[in-house]
Amino acid sequence: MTAYDEFNAYVAEINDLLCAVNTLVWDGRTQMPPDGATTRGLQVATLSRLAQERFTSDHMGRLLDAADAATQGEDADGYRARAVRSAREAYAVARRIPLALVGELAERKSISQQAWEEAKQRNDFGHFAPHLAAMVRLNRELAGAIGYTAHPYDALLLQYEPGMTAARLATLFTELKAGILPLLLRIAAAPAVDAAFLTLPSAPEQQRAFGLAIAQAFGYDLRRGRLDVAAHPFEVSFTRQDVRITTRYQPTYLPGAIFGIFHETGHALYEQGVDPALTRSAHTTDFLGLYAVGGASFGTHESQSRLWENQIGRSRAFWQCHFPRLQQMFPDQLAGVDAERFYRAVNRVQPSLIRVEADEITYNLHIMLRVEIEMGLMDGSIAVEDLPRIWNAKMREYLGVIPPTDSQGVLQDIHWSTGYFGSFPTYTIGNVMAAQFMEAAQRDLPGLDQTLATGDYQPLLAWLTENIYRHGRAYSPEELLMRVTGSGLQAGPYLAHLQTKFGELYPQ
Ligand code: ZN
Repeated sequence: MTAYDEFNAYVAEINDLLCAVNTLVWDGRTQMPPDGATTRGLQVATLSRLAQERFTSDHMGRLLDAADAATQGEDADGYRARAVRSAREAYAVARRIPLALVGELAERKSISQQAWEEAKQRNDFGHFAPHLAAMVRLNRELAGAIGYTAHPYDALLLQYEPGMTAARLATLFTELKAGILPLLLRIAAAPAVDAAFLTLPSAPEQQRAFGLAIAQAFGYDLRRGRLDVAAHPFEVSFTRQDVRITTRYQPTYLPGAIFGIFHETGHALYEQGVDPALTRSAHTTDFLGLYAVGGASFGTHESQSRLWENQIGRSRAFWQCHFPRLQQMFPDQLAGVDAERFYRAVNRVQPSLIRVEADEITYNLHIMLRVEIEMGLMDGSIAVEDLPRIWNAKMREYLGVIPPTDSQGVLQDIHWSTGYFGSFPTYTIGNVMAAQFMEAAQRDLPGLDQTLATGDYQPLLAWLTENIYRHGRAYSPEELLMRVTGSGLQAGPYLAHLQTKFGELYPQ
């Protein structure tokens, strides 16, 4: 066996451990009886620790040295050289994080999450505050261990979005706000869109049938995938051969499951499209051992869920094509509704309190608010006890609404209770990247609009697979953007998308 093969085989074993973790997590969120949670948490912790120990071992260091020497002189842009380089970087970072810190974060997670659930139920931020303060302290330690020059948030971002920094985010957000806030003001003054028919009772089996039919039309391969029910929907993959999605059916809200399935399908297409040669290779392993992620970054992955959910699934062309089928499946709810009315209803903009229910425009404001708070918590300019006040002030400034309770405000998301800081920006980065990729696809495929209008998604999927999916995590998000679109992350195409679409939906 060559030095490179030895390195790759060892990484593949770590990958197998992480796949076992994923199976346990998938089971825990879809099948497991509720009382299994405690022991399942221990099982996941054990396997994660084994993977982490293997990855940070001296043996891994020796394999890396040998593989590095063996690939000297090879094409620096090739998969092999890239695999060694990125593994080296991740290894260096992982070795800097003390095991005691990883352990403390993991230990605190369940108790902090429980405190958050109780606090949310009782509308009592004070009950959660000490736990949150501990998570903030541990994350500041984590940032210090990983290392940074300008801002502690930069170190945390490295886990989700390599290359992104607090300073670049601040610039991006300023540009986005300059485009979005005036648009939102205009929309808020417009008459409300009729969407009452969306909340009529609709059978979950029918929701599933429609969502799955579209997922397959997009290209989701059910011989390598499946759809299950989960309270908090997600996509999880083991290899490109087994990529699963989940959703949640709301009996009196038709769009929830439908767009949820489109979203998770986008994530799944990315994973199913990875080059078979990269399966069980260094390119499909989560090197930091904190999360399993297959694509270039969380933001890149999110760009694909957003592309299929919003750029395709929420387009007029899509509903002109598919509404007749939906109406056939929901004849009572959609009697008297046509494709145009449905399109307008599922794109109505409405500032709301809850992020996960937000529309394409206000969603980003929910994210910016959270990210600005996270940055403040990490650099010490915001104190935990001031959070409810700061949260409400930002909600008023950005969305014009003030949460009546902390449960509907600062306590609404699970993320901080589990100790995860730094992943929120990837949702907005995903939106921005999706528009850039879509613009590049339009440029490369002149007849794209016509094929999409007929419900033929093969040309788009083939283009995305060729340019993005097949590479797995071989390229950094910025490299991938440069290769595919010719420029780095840019707000322009996304703002143009919002302005064109919503300018027409809400004329002045
Ligand atoms: Zn997603």
